[in-house]
Amino acid sequence: MSRALVIAIDGPAGTGKSTVARGLATALGASYLDTGAMYRIVTLAALRRGVDLTDAEAIAGAVADVELAVGHDPGEDRSFLAEEDVSTEIRGDAVTKAVSAVSAVPAVRTRLVELQRALAGGTDDVVVEGRDIGTVVLPDADVKIFLTASAEERARRRNDQNVASGLPDDYDAVLADVKRRDHLDSTRPVSPLRAADDAAVVDTSDMTQSEVIAFLTDLVERTAQMGDERAREEQRAER
Ligand code: C5P
Repeated sequence: MSRALVIAIDGPAGTGKSTVARGLATALGASYLDTGAMYRIVTLAALRRGVDLTDAEAIAGAVADVELAVGHDPGEDRSFLAEEDVSTEIRGDAVTKAVSAVSAVPAVRTRLVELQRALAGGTDDVVVEGRDIGTVVLPDADVKIFLTASAEERARRRNDQNVASGLPDDYDAVLADVKRRDHLDSTRPVSPLRAADDAAVVDTSDMTQSEVIAFLTDLVERTAQMGDERAREEQRAER
């Protein structure tokens, strides 16, 4: 039997990454790990404790013992802070605005990366989604994918989502926020957002989400086949 496949998906906000990662996990019958949700949960904990977000030491202190859990079913979005289901609250504006500051704190990253490695290390195939999965968290992942799209296209998609969920139509503000988060995420000293050297970079600007999912499913299946063939050849060589 083949061993579990580990698939890393990285990229900036608004590339359709979450939908694509969930769709890919579903197509492959794999489990799914949303590392962004983990940063969002600790951010919510920091906000609730009233921590000064410019004080890295205070953030690190506040989140040191946060109890968090995320679901692994790609069909469900479930996030818990201690026993409380915070799945909706972590997607809200307050957390989205504060999450870059919290995720830039080295002690926060060290703790969450350790947890992510443990969660991805099971016997199931797993799709792990984030910003630094292929570069830092799981540099030995079997398949690494980096999704991109222009800032304007990403802002347009996010604004459409906002409007669909009843939020105001404000493309300019969304574009400014996309650029602000890109800048913070790609210039932070710890784990800046960048594609791993061996990642397949996929520009989704002109693709539908189903096209991206189909393309990636095919890519993963071909990589898995190559791995199986290599393993069989090695077994033959050993005999
Ligand atoms: O993916 P999502 O937009 O939910 O991620 C929220 C934030 O968490 C990102 O803007 C980024 O600051 C942080 N993040 C990170 N490293 C990851 C995943 C998310 O720094 N692996």
